Amino acid sequence: MMMCKGATRLMSLRQDRPLTLRQRLSLRFHLMMCDACTECNRQFDLLHEAGRRHTPELQADDAR
Ligand SMILES: [Zn+2]
Repeated sequence: MMMCKGATRLMSLRQDRPLTLRQRLSLRFHLMMCDACTECNRQFDLLHEAGRRHTPELQADDAR
């Protein structure tokens, strides 16, 4: 069973290139039972979307 560290790594990897089917499944499975990583995954998607449209403003994220 994948740990949060592994899940985060996959989320990061996914921004650069598509994951393999196996990686996608293990990530999805982890997200189903881990609220923290679900939220983290959402943040990754938001950042990725923002980065595609304009220069990311990383300073805006002072939550952690
Ligand atoms: Zn997790």
